[in-house]
Amino acid sequence: MPNVSTKVGVIGLGAMGAPMARNLARAGLLASVWNRTHSKAAALAAELGVSCASDPADLARHCDVVLTCVSADADLLAVIDLLIPGLDGDKLVIDTSTVNPATAIEIARRLAEIGCGFLDAPVSGGVEGAKQGTLAIMVGGDARTLERARSTFEAIGKRIAHMGPVGSGQSTKAVNQIMCAGINQAVTEALAFAEAEGLPLDKVLEVVSGGAAGNWFLDKRGAGMVRGEFPHGFKLALHHKDLEICKAIAARHGVALPVVEMTLIHYARLMVAGYGDEDISALFREKRRMFTETK
Ligand code: NAP
Repeated sequence: MPNVSTKVGVIGLGAMGAPMARNLARAGLLASVWNRTHSKAAALAAELGVSCASDPADLARHCDVVLTCVSADADLLAVIDLLIPGLDGDKLVIDTSTVNPATAIEIARRLAEIGCGFLDAPVSGGVEGAKQGTLAIMVGGDARTLERARSTFEAIGKRIAHMGPVGSGQSTKAVNQIMCAGINQAVTEALAFAEAEGLPLDKVLEVVSGGAAGNWFLDKRGAGMVRGEFPHGFKLALHHKDLEICKAIAARHGVALPVVEMTLIHYARLMVAGYGDEDISALFREKRRMFTETK
């Protein structure tokens, strides 16, 4: 049974955090929000009729569950430092950012020192999944702690999988990010090839998406890609950060993964060219370039 009396606070109101906060508000669970750029938190707090915390510790003092969704490892560690003065043994921190499993383990260790529970709970499903409350959630941590978080997870996601101890949620997310890189490589390369063949791209999308090559990324990003539009969905620079994590984990196994290595090179080129804030489908720019440069 969802525990509707749980008070949840959300930290990090970006492309993913803001819609998650809205869904928590719809479920009657959201009590407070905080964001580094204050104006975003003030606007969302006013929209949802919840409190706008003055700092992370203030948010923690007024909530049972703190859900974080920030960019990268160093950002999350900085937020945890700011949170700690407001945490105690009755509170629970759930992190939905994508970070290295080692960072999740370090945070769990720090929070355990004050008796505070922690779950690494990275998510997948894009901004669409965050808006619709249909995210896939990969949870690492203690099974009883997960039960305390269940109402929070049910408000933002559809598939909630307990993967094992702290860190295993992030390891699972790394699996997801390698697959996303491969799918992005395949879709953007194939569409650039179709364009070079002079095919009508709208018809290619229609027919291919109904066959064996159909997939989520093609459905959600294909039409924008062929119009040359790469609106803010999942920032390319954030996927680059995730693939650096995947690369480091693979290196521990003595392996360099071709899809990861190749995508890191392509993304780095696009970031240098100023496209790091575009959606990952901007890889299409790089694939198109291959065909146009040979002419
Ligand atoms: P985003 O739109 O760029 O938002 C990033 C958020 O993190 C903003 O609220 C930002 O605050 C905050 N932040 C960054 N550095 C911070 C710091 N040092 N201290 C405090 N707050 C900080 O990114 P997003 O797409 O929501 O992604 C957030 C996380 O979810 C990332 O780890 C990403 O890999 C993961 N993710 C994203 C997607 C997706 O499709 N977008 C899907 C699954 C998972 P400001 O507003 O002040 O900049």
